[in-house]
Amino acid sequence: MFTSVLVANRGEIACRVFRTARRMGIRTIAVYSEADARALHVREADEAVLIGPAPARESYLDAAKVLAAAKATGAEAIHPGYGFLSENAEFAEAVMAAGIVWIGAPPAAIRAMGLKDAAKTLMVEAGVPVTPGYMGADQSPERLKAEADTIGYPVLIKAVAGGGGKGMRRVDAGEAFLDALGSCRREAASSFGDDRVLIEKYILSPRHIEVQVFGDAHGEVVHLFERDCSLQRRHQKVIEEAPAPGMDEATRAAVTAAAVKAAKAVNYVGAGTIEFIADGTEGLRADRIWFMEMNTRLQVEHPVTEAITGVDLVEWQFRAAAGEPVPLRQDELSINGWAMEARLYAEDPANGFLPSIGKLEHFVLPDGVRIDTGMEEGGEVSQFYDPMIAKLIVHAETREEAAEALAEAASQVQVWPVKTNAAFIVKCVEHARFVTGDVDTGFIAAEEGDLVAEPLSDMGVEDAAHALRHFAVEGAGEASGSPWDLLAGAVGFRANATPRGTQSVVVDGQVREARLLDEDDHPMTPLLGLSATRVIAFEDGSAFDVTAFARSGAGGGGGPASDGTLRAPMPGKIVATPAKVGDMVAKGQPVIVLEAMKMEHALNAPFDGVVGEVAFAVGDQVAADAVLAVVEASG
Ligand code: ADP
Ligand code: ADP
Ligand code: MG
Repeated sequence: MFTSVLVANRGEIACRVFRTARRMGIRTIAVYSEADARALHVREADEAVLIGPAPARESYLDAAKVLAAAKATGAEAIHPGYGFLSENAEFAEAVMAAGIVWIGAPPAAIRAMGLKDAAKTLMVEAGVPVTPGYMGADQSPERLKAEADTIGYPVLIKAVAGGGGKGMRRVDAGEAFLDALGSCRREAASSFGDDRVLIEKYILSPRHIEVQVFGDAHGEVVHLFERDCSLQRRHQKVIEEAPAPGMDEATRAAVTAAAVKAAKAVNYVGAGTIEFIADGTEGLRADRIWFMEMNTRLQVEHPVTEAITGVDLVEWQFRAAAGEPVPLRQDELSINGWAMEARLYAEDPANGFLPSIGKLEHFVLPDGVRIDTGMEEGGEVSQFYDPMIAKLIVHAETREEAAEALAEAASQVQVWPVKTNAAFIVKCVEHARFVTGDVDTGFIAAEEGDLVAEPLSDMGVEDAAHALRHFAVEGAGEASGSPWDLLAGAVGFRANATPRGTQSVVVDGQVREARLLDEDDHPMTPLLGLSATRVIAFEDGSAFDVTAFARSGAGGGGGPASDGTLRAPMPGKIVATPAKVGDMVAKGQPVIVLEAMKMEHALNAPFDGVVGEVAFAVGDQVAADAVLAVVEASG
């Protein structure tokens, strides 16, 4: 066994790999970008090497710099984590050529499975059922459209080099095909440097079922059962569980056998995942599950498999890389209980799930469950990397208990001022459909209205006002008896009395008329002199800014009406300008499209009108808050 390991990654997965390394007495080496100088993975490692500026291309994706860091520190092995260089066959080869142990898939397997079209062709040859579709070389829009017409709508356009749920578009009718193709290609080119696509039949009631496989250098491959990752938003996993609800032994036998066959077809070594798509219209059935792709790396959701099997997959990866056989035989592996994982994202569900960046002034995660994170209080969620800030993992005897434990864990999350999906996770796992196991990949889109909480429905304005009064009376520093954790910061709080004792309260960005009440529920005059204080209340995974401010004069309610100015919600690059100056646009129609944090964000017309200004062109880099376009009300 090697005695030192460099992790060519950041965030939670770097910390995760280090944890096992430390337990095994292996020296840990981190690499980091300038943006991560104070990150947890850097401080946790025995040694750390700065490899470049914040953009991943100049640091985490720069193979030469990572290799130089390994040589400089005498690293005997490299673990690539997931994402970044983990599925880069040239990098794997360069690592091995340098005499360093590669804790990843064999380069030939990475290549064979790297492009979705080639992988599917290979799987057909190996006798593994694949999703029907077109995976040909002719990439002309006419041909692709004709193939989509033949397959029959809905279809899914996928970047052959895609990953992480990006570079994918569902198309429901022929008219929409070419627009979707264009947008898919743009995302594919900018994210993966390859704009080729394949077309697949869109499976109805799709369930994402994947099988963890593990191989060694001696030709042995075992599986560690399945995971269900159907709870997704825009093809990105949000909640994963193991085993899959409704899985019967016959279907499990078929899907795990297909997975082992797939892994053997590419002489797989180490941890890998075979992803399948199942048509769930009549529950899971062995003849309605098709190969989708293989991920030749450790998966984000590997902890749920670890929980139900008791295996440390990173330890197994170390052993396989060192040439050891798979530690357990297939008949020694079994499923114990039920596990669930939720991905805590820095994003704002109430605002179209826009990524939320900034400093984690307050960052408290639940106790008593497994937490995999690379973040800590005072850390920074930067625009340069993935918005996933932690994973909450629970393990219980039954699915019901696991769901309850996950809801409880997510409801204890307290993060400010960065927004998270914690409250959204709570709503997901408490949803009646989820509880009964009736989920497919369309669940979130279909139930979004129920899942994205209207913050004020949980915490009424009067409660907010009460919390505020309580705070005013008790003082900032003292523990209050209120049900919420009140946090005092040092930013602009002003409470001004109006004659009738009402005032405006901003709760989570919404202006509401509030009445401050005393103990006996009588209206009271707010105390003056509360300047320079901000009150944040946390409840069920949500954070509320309970900040009151003076509102001049009487009458006039509500927030400022939208003036049609479309501003950049975060720094990014303009990737499309579907509307031109002078165009008529309907409410909700995209005017300008920004790419940030690897996703496209369309800024839509807030009302019917005419485009008065488009301030940037495709390719322009824009700062947060920049005015991108202006829509003027028509008529
Ligand atoms: P990625 O490399 O981005 O993970 P995948 O091919 O694994 O891409 O697909 C990601 C997700 O997209 C799946 O988990 C599933 O939700 C959805 N999906 C993929 N293919 C299909 C399909 N043919 N029909 C319906 N949904 C699909
Ligand atoms: P899985 O199929 O295992 O769910 P995904 O494809 O969703 O994996 O996630 C892999 C993605 O994770 C990469 O494409 C990258 O965007 C992102 N990523 C890479 N490294 C990190 C990290 N350290 N922390 C969070 N996200 C990361
Ligand atoms: Mg996938």
